[in-house]
Amino acid sequence: MDATQKPYLSIVVPVYNEEENVRPLFEKIREVCETIGRTYEVLFVDDGSVDNTFEVLSELRNHEPCLAVIRFQENAGQTAAMAAGFEFAQGERIISMDGDLQNDPADIPRLLQKLDEDYDLVCGWRRERQDKFWTRRVPSVVANWIISKVTGIAIHDNGCSLKAYRSEIIKQVPLYGEMHRFIPAMSTVVGARIAEIVVKHHPRQFGTSKYGLGRVWRVVLDILAFKLILSIFARQPNSKNRSSTQRPYQNQINPKFNVYRAAGLLSLPFFLIGSLLINVTLITGISCIGICVSLMLVSLITGWSLAKAQREAADLSPLASFFIYRCARRPIRIFGPLGVMLLLLGSILTFKFPHIGPILICIGVVVFFFGLFGEIIAYANAKRVIDYTVEIFLNAKDEVKRAENSY
Ligand code: UDP
Ligand code: MG
Repeated sequence: MDATQKPYLSIVVPVYNEEENVRPLFEKIREVCETIGRTYEVLFVDDGSVDNTFEVLSELRNHEPCLAVIRFQENAGQTAAMAAGFEFAQGERIISMDGDLQNDPADIPRLLQKLDEDYDLVCGWRRERQDKFWTRRVPSVVANWIISKVTGIAIHDNGCSLKAYRSEIIKQVPLYGEMHRFIPAMSTVVGARIAEIVVKHHPRQFGTSKYGLGRVWRVVLDILAFKLILSIFARQPNSKNRSSTQRPYQNQINPKFNVYRAAGLLSLPFFLIGSLLINVTLITGISCIGICVSLMLVSLITGWSLAKAQREAADLSPLASFFIYRCARRPIRIFGPLGVMLLLLGSILTFKFPHIGPILICIGVVVFFFGLFGEIIAYANAKRVIDYTVEIFLNAKDEVKRAENSY
């Protein structure tokens, strides 16, 4: 491939401490790509590995011009590594896959074929997943079932990294936090048409998995946050009237979005019931009025956040900076558990202290929604913040760039 020419295909592989895997994986990818008969580049993103991953990759790079390597200054997470890969990828078509040999490059041609059937995103489905049963496969089946119900996108395996994308679509999707597990849902925001095919999966031979059971709780909170984000920002493409050039645009506020109106309306009956009941049972009456106040706050906050999300084009406001930097863009992960704790505490205390309990419940609800509100602000500003620092970029033109924060 001529150094100035852009490749047709980019393979993006995030790696963190995969020294034994990168060489055999690269060789398999190259073998498969050679059979496709199109130009390609393989982009390894070393997510701040502390083993010899980068050394092995740079050594390989010396005699493999189709290989590009990005090295982060420090570990920024799989999502950030994927985001960097998508950012730097030059191909019209992009494939992402894990760097631990669990995904099989032999599936790449089938993914590309499916993409050519006028899809924007083709997801791999590890139907025969080779991971531990109770700690990996069961939580994954449950999470995928919930995600498909909540988002309405019937994908069996959101967490499978082996996916194929049209470059112009995936480059528009803001990725942060641990959002790589929600790429299908998030892609609908830019109107992506999504398909799924069964792919192979192998047990991990070398190295260890980077995740434990802790992700289950995080994924539950993520699902909630993304449901809200989708209901605000997403527009389902009109499937009857599809054309490759006309796609819905990004960050469009759904005109039907009415969480804040719904919350405002919902608060009214609670107010009425509360006022009627307050003379009969004080606790229930106060609780109803408390719920009414919380719902009104939700309504106000969400309405305000929408207005703000649209307005904040130039600078990050102090509040947006707070959510993005202090909360590492995942406010629900901080305010969610806090809200739930206050809610539980309030429920317990209600029996003993009927005046304090309901107030705590209300504060809990408000805190929880404050976290969700933060998610909206973080998402709306996502494309303007970069979560990783590239230390070295060994690109496909045989030049070494040392970058500061300029990426
Ligand atoms: N990974 C990464 N940064 C991280 C954690 C993981 O780049 O902070 C990479 C990892 O090297 C692998 C892929 O993401 O290539 C998937 O990780 P892993 O195999 O640990 O996840 P699992 O297959 O167990 O879900
Ligand atoms: Mg793995």
